[in-house]
Amino acid sequence: MLAIQKLSKTYANGIQALRDISLNIDCGIFGLLGPNGAGKSSLMRTLATLQDADSGSMILDGVDILKNPQAARTMLGYLPQDFGVYPTVSAQELLDQLAVFKGFTNSRERKEVVARQLQLVNLYEKRKQKLGTFSGGMRQRFGIAQALLGSPKLVIVDEPTAGLDPTERIRFQNLLSEISQDRVLLLSTHIVEDVAELCPNMAIMNRGEIIRNGSPHVLVNALNGRVWTKTIDLTSQSKSQFIQKSSNLDVKSDLTVITQRMSQGKRLVRVLSDCQPGDDFMSVQPDLNDVYFTALLDRPQAQAIAV
Ligand code: ADP
Repeated sequence: MLAIQKLSKTYANGIQALRDISLNIDCGIFGLLGPNGAGKSSLMRTLATLQDADSGSMILDGVDILKNPQAARTMLGYLPQDFGVYPTVSAQELLDQLAVFKGFTNSRERKEVVARQLQLVNLYEKRKQKLGTFSGGMRQRFGIAQALLGSPKLVIVDEPTAGLDPTERIRFQNLLSEISQDRVLLLSTHIVEDVAELCPNMAIMNRGEIIRNGSPHVLVNALNGRVWTKTIDLTSQSKSQFIQKSSNLDVKSDLTVITQRMSQGKRLVRVLSDCQPGDDFMSVQPDLNDVYFTALLDRPQAQAIAV
């Protein structure tokens, strides 16, 4: 459905935001995961025809997006990261106006389309409410309603769940699942759980490059037997030992640490290793966080850790 070939983009300030990006994406939700500054928004904006690329191509259902941006625009919907709304206008009024821009000139047809979209995102009852009174989750659902005007084949949503509370996030995730039938829904996010819960296919991006690409399930399975964990009890005595040891980079400096995090006063360490890294390490089932952080590790020297 969407074929991206060797797409590159360098901004005027010399930052190369996209480096030879190639992806083939089918219907359903495709997750694009990466840290801030990875280039996700640059890719989204280029796909949404809001900026040019220096080289490469993007073909959406046979239409070359870079060569025919006008035609492509009728086939795509976009929910940008900083989707602003007019606070004093009602949901129905703004959606009606946006539908005019999308080419719905017949007022009766437009009214039907607007009502249908508001029902789909569960905002029909609130249609007369001013957008300034909407919660973050309601605003994002409104953003989806406008992105779906004209039944686009490609819907691009840029970091949509950032800032939503847990209930709103689940509701929004369910909405994304519902609307991803028969179309490509490209979801850019830095939240690993969003991808784990929603996306049958994904890519990880860093420094303008695609560094992993595939189904989360397959990428996770590829780490089977290679992720080990250990808990370090930071009681006052062991804490001082730990601090002492952690300043000594010679201690087990060959270990590749995936993550370290505090949990109930203890430090949980996850390590990548083809064999048991030490007697006190236990093998654990890998997860998508491990895939993400090992992909980002990609560095010449392993990180040192005190064990
Ligand atoms: P992400 O969405 O993954 O956070 P972005 O695409 O926003 O990443 O940014 C990728 C890189 O490009 C960053 O280094 C960012 O500072 C830079 N960048 C983004 N937009 C512009 C721009 N309009 N002009 C110059 N540099 C930009």
